[in-house]
Amino acid sequence: MTASLSLEGRVAVVTGASRGIGRAIALELSRRGAAVVVNYLRSEEAAREVVSLIKEAGGKAEAFQADVSDFKQAQELIKFAVQTFGGVDILVNNAGITRDTLIMMMSEEDFDTVIATNLKSTFNCSKAAVRHMMRKRYGRIINITSVAGQMGNAGQTNYSASKAGQIGFTKALAREVAARNITVNAIAAGYIDTDIWAGVPEEARQAVLNLIPLGRKGEPEEIAYAVAFLASDQAAYITGQVLGVDGGMAMM
Ligand code: NAP
Repeated sequence: MTASLSLEGRVAVVTGASRGIGRAIALELSRRGAAVVVNYLRSEEAAREVVSLIKEAGGKAEAFQADVSDFKQAQELIKFAVQTFGGVDILVNNAGITRDTLIMMMSEEDFDTVIATNLKSTFNCSKAAVRHMMRKRYGRIINITSVAGQMGNAGQTNYSASKAGQIGFTKALAREVAARNITVNAIAAGYIDTDIWAGVPEEARQAVLNLIPLGRKGEPEEIAYAVAFLASDQAAYITGQVLGVDGGMAMM
C-alpha cells in the first residue's frame, strides 16, 4: 500500500473537466501522480488550459472532446484513455448540467437532456470503464452527485431525479463489481461556487446559504480533495457510499 494518498501510476478519466469541479478534480488527481484524461464538451480552450497546467507541473494529461450523454462517444472517451495511457483505473463521472424550472414550465426536452447528461452519462462511461477495470481487478469509480438528489429542490425535478438516480446507480454497481476489487462511491456536493450557478437569482442563492451550517459556499477544490481520497489505496474498504461535501447541508 502506498503512503500519503499517492495516485502515482494510475490513469484517471474525469468527465466535464474543462471547468468548475471537474477542473479542480483533474488538477488534484494529477498533483497526486495520476495521468488524467480531461474530457469536455464545448470548452476546448479551457480543457487545453487544464492540460497545460498539468504538463507545466510535470504531470501527464490529454484533453478529449466527447458528449458523455452519447453511448458511443463515452466508449470513445474510455478507449482514448486506454490507448493513450494504457488503461483506466479511476473514473470520475462529473459532467453535469441544470435546466431549472417548475414542472408546469418544464419541457420534455428539459427533462430528457438533464437525465441523459447527468445520469445516462454515468452508465455510459462506467459500462465502458468497468470492462477494463474487471480485467485489471482494480478500479475506482466516483460519481459526483448533489444534495438535490438527497433532499429534493423545487424547480429541479429533472436535476434532483438525475442526481438521486446516480446514488442508486452507485450502490447497485458497487455490489456488482466489489468482488473484482472495484469500488464505486458518490460524493454529494452542496453549494459549490461554479458556472452552474450562473443565472440563479441572488435571493435563491441566499436561501441556499441559509441552509448551510458552516455558513459558506464550498470551493471546487474541497470536492477534489474528497475525490482524491476515494480514489486512493487508503479508501480500499469504502464502497457503495455517498459522502456529503456540503458544509453540513444534508445530514443523512
Ligand atoms: P460547471 O462549472 O457548469 O461545469 C460543467 C462541466 O460539465 C463542464 O466541464 C462541461 O463541459 C461539462 N459537460 C456538460 N455537459 C457535458 C456533456 N454532455 N459531455 C461532456 N461534458 C459535459 O458545473 P460544476 O458546478 O462544476 O458541476 C460539476 C458536477 O458537480 C455536476 O455533475 C453537478 O451536477 C455537480 N454538482 C455541482 C454543484 C455546485 O454547486 N456547483 C453542487 C452539487 C453537484 P464544457 O465546458 O465543455 O461545456
